[in-house]
Amino acid sequence: MHRLVGSLRFLLLCSCLGVAASAQQPDSAPIVLHAARLLQVDTGTLLQPGEVLIEGERIRAVGASVEHPQGAKIIDLGNATLLPGLIDAHVHLFLHPGAEDLQTVVESVPWRTILAEQAAKDDLLAGFTAERDMGTEGAGSADTAVRNAIDQGLILGPRLRISGNAIDILGGHEDANRYNPAQHVLSNADYANSAEQMVEVMREQHKEGSDFAKIYETGPDRMIDGVLHSPYQYTAAQLTAAVEEARRMGTTVGVHAMGEPGTLYAAEAGVASIDHATQLSDETMRLMKEKGIFAVPTFTIFDYFAHHRESQDQAAAEAALLDYKIAEFKKQVAAGVPFAVGSDVGPFPHGTQARELTLMVRYGMTPLAVLQADMINGAKLLGWAGQIGELKPGYFADIIAVPGNPLNDISVVEHVKFVMKNGAVARQ
Ligand SMILES: [Zn+2]
Repeated sequence: MHRLVGSLRFLLLCSCLGVAASAQQPDSAPIVLHAARLLQVDTGTLLQPGEVLIEGERIRAVGASVEHPQGAKIIDLGNATLLPGLIDAHVHLFLHPGAEDLQTVVESVPWRTILAEQAAKDDLLAGFTAERDMGTEGAGSADTAVRNAIDQGLILGPRLRISGNAIDILGGHEDANRYNPAQHVLSNADYANSAEQMVEVMREQHKEGSDFAKIYETGPDRMIDGVLHSPYQYTAAQLTAAVEEARRMGTTVGVHAMGEPGTLYAAEAGVASIDHATQLSDETMRLMKEKGIFAVPTFTIFDYFAHHRESQDQAAAEAALLDYKIAEFKKQVAAGVPFAVGSDVGPFPHGTQARELTLMVRYGMTPLAVLQADMINGAKLLGWAGQIGELKPGYFADIIAVPGNPLNDISVVEHVKFVMKNGAVARQ
């Protein structure tokens, strides 16, 4: 009897999955997308017009015109530019606008998971077909369920690389330091106070489904006489132990690191990315170029906080930090530091983060360089090089259409009108 109930339940589960999944699966008939323009991101070549043939989840052909197989569904997107799907290398699906700490104190993990599901959908419909989630901020490995539900076609969202909680020291940048100690408010991160503990925490997170480790390397940040001061949290040796463990597990490490010497320690250890990356010494930039370590500036969050703080003083401090960051970014661009694009969306509304590309152009990069950083470097950073980030035969069909020409006006990426992920149309 017990076995029968078990197998009945299994059958029911399978049939439910089948129905839900079919809504998100690629079309069985081939699809041809047609638009006035198509950008080949690697070379900057603009095809006019541009067409893409999609069969199942993959791109089969790209050109000014492609074969239109019999029975193919033709989608004419008119005066638009076809691009690979956008990639955001720094998101927080488990955060929404409002006090960050209080979300983890007041809201349950199940509730935050439901909000994360909505956030994933908002991001996808805004054109982000792949994302790296840089920490659930106290929701532990709940992101494993969100990633798996997306992959199984149960809910809408980008392809995800996830970290579970971030890793932080006791009393560190992300610990709940400002509360009544008698209340024992929990940290938003997992504690690790030594290389041994770091390895142990990474193994636990990996067991629970993480794709990489997010480590807090610096903070809290202060501006003193116009210069950023951000104390480091882990030594280069401790970060090296983390990178070696990640390599053993076939994963990577991304660090939150605002300034020196933490940014140098991270570069010496060979992390995959230095996120926020506000202050980088000449030696740090040299190592990043040599090792292919990406800087992820996250301008949008700084810009948002400069305009959305409770007090005038707080807003002024954020504005001073943003000014400093812009000046340092110009040096990094001139030095040839490799960039990926990440917005830190979550504290500001999901689905609005394409503004990051606009800000990177405003502060000194060309539109093509920003698109290459977003799509080609983003694919590398997320571990999908050669599979997403370009419109080429054999790649996954992650494709968006934007009005106008992004090489003339990058802000068109903030107005995505068509989204396809994995061969399935998510927005039209
Ligand atoms: Zn973040």
